[in-house]
Amino acid sequence: MAKRDYYEVLGVSKSTTKEELKKAYRKLAMEFHPDKNPGNQEAEDKFKEVTEAYQVLSDEQKKAQYDQFGHQAFDGMNAGGGFSNFNYEDLSDIFGGGLGDMFGGMFGGGGNRRQGPQVHEGSDLRYDVTITFLEAAKGCIKEAKYARMAHCKTCKGTGGKPESKEESCPMCKGSGEIRKVVRSVFGNMMQSSTCPECNGRGKIHKEKCSECHGKTIIRETVTKEVKIPAGIADGQRMRVSQGGNAGPYNGTLGDLYVFIHVKEDEIFERHDNDIICEVPISYFVASVGGDIEIPILDGTTTMKIPAGTQNGKVFKLKGKGIPDVHGRGHGDELVSVFIEVPKNLNATQRESLEKFESSLKGENYKNKTNFFEKLKKRLKNS
Ligand SMILES: [Zn+2]
Ligand SMILES: [Zn+2]
Repeated sequence: MAKRDYYEVLGVSKSTTKEELKKAYRKLAMEFHPDKNPGNQEAEDKFKEVTEAYQVLSDEQKKAQYDQFGHQAFDGMNAGGGFSNFNYEDLSDIFGGGLGDMFGGMFGGGGNRRQGPQVHEGSDLRYDVTITFLEAAKGCIKEAKYARMAHCKTCKGTGGKPESKEESCPMCKGSGEIRKVVRSVFGNMMQSSTCPECNGRGKIHKEKCSECHGKTIIRETVTKEVKIPAGIADGQRMRVSQGGNAGPYNGTLGDLYVFIHVKEDEIFERHDNDIICEVPISYFVASVGGDIEIPILDGTTTMKIPAGTQNGKVFKLKGKGIPDVHGRGHGDELVSVFIEVPKNLNATQRESLEKFESSLKGENYKNKTNFFEKLKKRLKNS
């Protein structure tokens, strides 16, 4: 059936003002409103027709397109699909609030949803992976092996046996949409939604696909390579685009989220991008100084301990920490030394230590000397 001219539908001229247009539409919409014409298909069709005309002519851009190209401007679009961006809120000042929902429902459920075949979004999946401290610091590649839903290749998303005949969908009687009566501010309204049986195609194969049993998606096991960047931290997650489940009926693919767990390390502790390690040194090295071997991310290196190093002294190795995950430089390595006091001395060792200790003077023990002087002073004054 040829489409009627929008101006003719609303009974207005091309030079109509917005106010006149609104008035004309309001009058017709009230007249043909399904609530006033229960069960009258013709009235409902008219209602849709005037609404569609108003949707175009009340939108300056669409009106201009229509004036220039006529209905061809919106070729291939039906009342629901073509005008899906129509702002239903605009109608609320004509009929009062709450209309957006109703119009959305009438023209394909929701302001932005297309009528006809529905696009099904695939869901996201989660995958947990545990890596070592060093893997996190240097980056690594892990394989994620998991099960997900994939598009059925046998039926190419139709759900039917490829060689079987197609017939009109019994659920929607070939229309591709299901209508039901819903209550709204206007009273009872017809609402249409995509038929779940045929996904809006209006037809279905007589026999279901033997691979997916009509579900259009099948379970598969996939292995994805996950590149984990250097500097990743415990609790961070990475997205593998399209690594998730496939939506039915050739829907979109969800994403895979890889949650990273980092094992604690025996030697290093992480503070932001700095790494901290405690290194025991001997009483002797602390006193006279010397080179000690210390761990770094790439193995070990030699570090000079100056003579007279005190317990808990922290040495900073600049840039030897963890690389920033976003590529903004490196952290530092902080080496904290603690002096291990020798235990279980035998008689000879003890003797030589006693000899050594008695040779020491106040200047060898500055802290101790100062401390006892302060204490003496206090005792004297009290
Ligand atoms: Zn199939
Ligand atoms: Zn159907």
